[in-house]
Amino acid sequence: MKISYPWDTPPENGTVQEVADGVLWLRLPLPMALDHVNVYALDDGDSWTLIDTGMKWGKVPAMWQTVLDGPLNGKPVARVMSTHHHPDHIGFNGWFVEQGAELFSTRTAFVLGRMLTLDAQEAYNEEQISFYRRAGMRADLLAARIKDRPFNFADMVHPLPLGFTRLSQDQVLRMAGRDWTVRIGNGHAPAHATFWSDDGLVLSGDQVIPSISSNIGVYPTEPDANPLDDWLVSCHAFQDFAQDDQLILPGHKVPFYGLRPRLRQLIENHESALDRMRVALKAPHTCGDLMEAVFKRTIKDGEYGLALVEALAHCNYLWHAGEVTRTLRDDGVYVWQMR
Ligand SMILES: [Zn+2]
Repeated sequence: MKISYPWDTPPENGTVQEVADGVLWLRLPLPMALDHVNVYALDDGDSWTLIDTGMKWGKVPAMWQTVLDGPLNGKPVARVMSTHHHPDHIGFNGWFVEQGAELFSTRTAFVLGRMLTLDAQEAYNEEQISFYRRAGMRADLLAARIKDRPFNFADMVHPLPLGFTRLSQDQVLRMAGRDWTVRIGNGHAPAHATFWSDDGLVLSGDQVIPSISSNIGVYPTEPDANPLDDWLVSCHAFQDFAQDDQLILPGHKVPFYGLRPRLRQLIENHESALDRMRVALKAPHTCGDLMEAVFKRTIKDGEYGLALVEALAHCNYLWHAGEVTRTLRDDGVYVWQMR
């Protein structure tokens, strides 16, 4: 089976496309290289359930109001399902709660999202700087980065409520006249919720995206994390539930058929990156110096930050597997090498 895309063109920002009975696909803009996020509105008769809510910036608040008054027919949003804690997905969760919606999330995703939204930082602290130095960030980029105000969730996310309703593995929810089973993945974000309907729809968030791979990154919040192992475990686990006729509704890009081949590609992409690193790491390298081996291309400055944290995820994977050693050099940079 091949991957196929039933809609060539996504709905314009702020408009909707029906992708299944009672399931609307909406797009909202993002101020970055990946310039959009997908949101889904599920028709529950007298109200809506939203799957994610976009990032709070620019004209998106006005766009939401236009969608609510127009395609959503002025019916209330009664529930917001949060796939994961990243700011491009939770930006308006708190705003909808203020209008009366109930917020559903995995516990880890909620706690992380709320913690990071409350934790506004005016400047980089020593813990963050030392993290990027250890990762071998290019000196000029590190120097430039620490002059700027850090990226703050609070700038892009409406304040989140104190409380939420928990989503758990294998829980069944009724949305848009169907039963959906919650399956939790990891790797792109901890405890990432996905929703699998009894008639072959999968709301996959960023756990499965077509044509681009989800960022698998290590961050200062958990410097020794092994998200690549988490990711591969999740991809393998989801293979057991993949069927050819499922329509996958992802958090970015466009809906597609072909979950099974897509999961295989995701696994193989990382496994071949690990193989290239095993070759490169016969000689000692910093993580920053390994990026070309990981990505098979030169990394531009605009994508350097995300690429570095993903290269680090691959280093940590080999380190946890006992395949490489990690030594802190005198200049505060980790050097990695095959045993
Ligand atoms: Zn995303």
